[in-house]
Amino acid sequence: MKSTIFKTVILSFTLIGLAACSSSKEDSKKTGIAYTSTYVCPMHCEGSGSDKAGQCPVCGMDYVLNKENSK
Ligand SMILES: [Zn+2]
Repeated sequence: MKSTIFKTVILSFTLIGLAACSSSKEDSKKTGIAYTSTYVCPMHCEGSGSDKAGQCPVCGMDYVLNKENSK
């Protein structure tokens, strides 16, 4: 019985560790104008992003309003 509980605890910590790791990775990726501009490319191409609506110069997709930055 004890070993089952122990395994569950280890598994929980592993999952928490993975979740924390992946979320911090995402945070570090969301930098630069491709993420922080008012309008951004849905693909977040390098060099994309504008304060006006338009199209991404890299992939040609329409910019979308950056909800995270539109407050
Ligand atoms: Zn693009």
